[in-house]
Amino acid sequence: MIQNVAVIGAGTMGNGIAHVFIQHHYNVVLADISQPQLEKAVATIHKNFDRQISKGTVTEEQKQQALSLLTTSSSIKEAVSKADLVIEAATENETIKLNLFAEIDKAAPAHAILASNTSSISITKIAAATTRPAFVIGMHFMNPVPVMKLVEIINGYATDRAVTEKIITLSEQLNKVPCVVNDYPGFIANRILMPMINEAIFSLYEGIAGVHEIDTIMKLGMAHPMGPLQLADFIGLDVCLSILNVLHEGFGNPKYAPCPLLKKMVTAGKLGVKSGEGFYIYSKGSKELVVSKSFSV
Ligand code: NAD
Repeated sequence: MIQNVAVIGAGTMGNGIAHVFIQHHYNVVLADISQPQLEKAVATIHKNFDRQISKGTVTEEQKQQALSLLTTSSSIKEAVSKADLVIEAATENETIKLNLFAEIDKAAPAHAILASNTSSISITKIAAATTRPAFVIGMHFMNPVPVMKLVEIINGYATDRAVTEKIITLSEQLNKVPCVVNDYPGFIANRILMPMINEAIFSLYEGIAGVHEIDTIMKLGMAHPMGPLQLADFIGLDVCLSILNVLHEGFGNPKYAPCPLLKKMVTAGKLGVKSGEGFYIYSKGSKELVVSKSFSV
């Protein structure tokens, strides 16, 4: 039975994952190498519970109960020592993840399932860094985790069927909708999303339409809540580029080659929301989208 969960990495995704687990009565140790990140994550979890309270979806008592199940640690070894499930949500970097999984594998109990929230790194490769590949699986939550219903579950080459079944049941207990896929570059979510975003950037690059037109056509024409260029800004243009590179290299198919404009923007440090500018300009306090001056006529 899964009761004790260790979440490794207390960034955007880690705090959301911890939030959802404590809200559903699991004990969570949230771990990060950075103490300030841990403090920031706990503050974010408080703030997000308060938002749920103001919406009437959670009571003050439920918030306090949930928070009593949360502890933090700056030691990976200590964090995973009693875990039934470890969910790694550290920086998207292959070396970091392979080293982390080798470390987690040594310190976690033999029965523990080791999951990664990676967006694009091979689960089979991550599993190979451990001595328990049958117990390694992808658990790809979407941002923001407390809001988004989907969990893309990724079976590595060696993932045991019983492990997948446990993770499906667990995801349902978290009030999420699990979808199981196999381990190939980009899994399903990013294999389909990223070529669409890349095509939108190519359309802009080739001068077929402007930022506003491309996003409006996809929003109003396809009933997407956000246009592909705005979505790229939210995901981070560096993240989009790195996932496209994984698809391009993984399949060896030129159809995944990232648009030169995307590469140039990342080189220029225009990463979207996180840097304040991508296809749009994000000024503090403004709710209006302003198309970046690079794309204005
Ligand atoms: P982030 O940069 O916000 O947070 C990463 C955290 O990992 C940081 O707090 C960092 O200090 C910590 N970290 C780095 N090395 C560590 C180590 N060795 N041990 C412990 N902690 C370590 O990143 P994020 O956006 O939360 O992404 C985390 C993972 O989730 C990535 O694999 C990413 O691909 C995936 N993901 C992200 C999104 C998204 O929209 N942001 C969506 C789905 C999946």
